[in-house]
Amino acid sequence: MVVPEKQLAAEKEQGRGNGLPERVIVSEKVKRRLAEIVGADRILTAHEDLMVYAYDATLPEYLPEVVVFPRDAAQVAEILKLANAEQIPVAPRGAGTNLSGGSLPLHGGIVLGLARMNRILEVDKENLTAVVEPGVVNADLQAYLAPMGLFYPPDPASMNACTIGGNIAENSGGPRCLKYGVTRDYVLGLEVVLPTGEIIHTGGRTVKNTTGYDLTRLFVGSEGTLGIVTRANLRLLPIPEGKRTLLAVYDDLNDASRTVSAIIGQGIIPTTLELMDNMLIGCAEDFAHVGLPKDAAAILLIEVDGFQESLDRQARVIEQLCRDNKAREVRRAQTAEEVNRLWVARRTVIGAVARVRPSYSLQDVTVPPSKLPQMVSRVVEISGKYDLPIGVLAHAGDGNLHPLVLFDKRNREETERVEHAESEICEVALALGGTLSGEHGIGLSKRRRLSLEFSADEIELTRRLRALFDPNGILNPGKIVGE
Ligand SMILES: Cc1cc2nc3c(=O)[nH]c(=O)nc-3n(C[C@H](O)[C@H](O)[C@H](O)COP(=O)(O)OP(=O)(O)OC[C@H]3O[C@@H](n4cnc5c(N)ncnc54)[C@H](O)[C@@H]3O)c2cc1C
Repeated sequence: MVVPEKQLAAEKEQGRGNGLPERVIVSEKVKRRLAEIVGADRILTAHEDLMVYAYDATLPEYLPEVVVFPRDAAQVAEILKLANAEQIPVAPRGAGTNLSGGSLPLHGGIVLGLARMNRILEVDKENLTAVVEPGVVNADLQAYLAPMGLFYPPDPASMNACTIGGNIAENSGGPRCLKYGVTRDYVLGLEVVLPTGEIIHTGGRTVKNTTGYDLTRLFVGSEGTLGIVTRANLRLLPIPEGKRTLLAVYDDLNDASRTVSAIIGQGIIPTTLELMDNMLIGCAEDFAHVGLPKDAAAILLIEVDGFQESLDRQARVIEQLCRDNKAREVRRAQTAEEVNRLWVARRTVIGAVARVRPSYSLQDVTVPPSKLPQMVSRVVEISGKYDLPIGVLAHAGDGNLHPLVLFDKRNREETERVEHAESEICEVALALGGTLSGEHGIGLSKRRRLSLEFSADEIELTRRLRALFDPNGILNPGKIVGE
């Protein structure tokens, strides 16, 4: 099933978002009151400043009318009470790196910038927990914890920029989530400001907690639609003793995806199992110059971690499985610098595709790992069918695929083909028992496809649940489900 033309046109109209909001919602009086709440140095109203907050990592742009940077939960509560009384839409924002349009101020109004609430408040080594504010950058937390021999497992490829608040709101994953799980598995408790201004606390500091409904898990992944996370209790782990990093090189993309299923099928769970096809290898290499084989059809970046004694054995078994599945070469990284270089290539590849075409659109479909080979070959077919370059990038071990469709958004006809190709990719994933989004969320960009996965009753329940938290619909309106 493809998205009907009429719907496409309406969505495109909506996605155009090329300037001022349809109407002025934030009066001068409200701006003055916001400035009183946060202080004059924590509010932006000049057009050139607002432009910086009009976009995220997707294509549309929507200009907010005001951006505020609260200092603490009490200020967030004051802002939300005011917005609620005045019926002003509020778009929460961390670093704006999301890939689903989640932080875009669709109707103008207020952008609530959480990035300056960025203190690491506590690390409890004895109990393996940390308490942080939402604006802490993921990589800063990792760097703070490393000297203590600890780490926080969720590691989005954007970790050098994205914030813990954004990670929580998107239930973000990342390369090592194959072994360690996603953000939701590491959030023990939250302080949240509800859209109506009440400050609540959910969960606690223990891994086990079955007291009442699990509100913590409901807020994680709620994409800034149910409340503002102002503090989080996180679960930490000790850094494993060692790791091995392997690069397997293939002449056929299908052999690479079959290797992934073979490794998981053997009951081996590497920390990381990342797949990149030929086009993306070329982009990553041209950008990062790390010695990737540009003539290969695909590579797998594989990492295992654990006790030293087990590492070589795990690596040997994996090497053999790669060779059994026709890897032409399997290299083991010999130095920390080599490992680092490979990761730079992987983490920068999404930006590097800008060398091929001016625009990209990235899907986030996820299928059971055994279906990965089928999913990958269908993506290749769809690329041919719609005559569009589609790079295959995947957190392959957990079946999470990021087909990167490259095009030029100024070309209307090409943009329409992108919509159709992506709809088909989503339909294939669902038919294989998968889901529309593994880690990027639905936000604005995938909301029209929600009905492919959710029934009318499920969408209605989602709406009702949301209205319970946000009766006036001020918080991130239009995200996940349309208004
Ligand atoms: C190059 C690149 C690589 C990426 N790699 C990965 C990856 O490997 N895995 C992955 O999962 N994602 C990845 N992402 C997507 C993105 O980085 C994540 O979704 C990230 O969690 C967003 O964090 P942020 O701070 O940028 O949040 P933003 O983009 O600012 O916001 C994301 C959502 O969270 C809401 N929000 C933000 N802060 C709060 C808060 N305190 N309370 C309530 N709601 C809030 C926003 O309204 C929005 O809906 C990647 C993005 C890029 C550009």
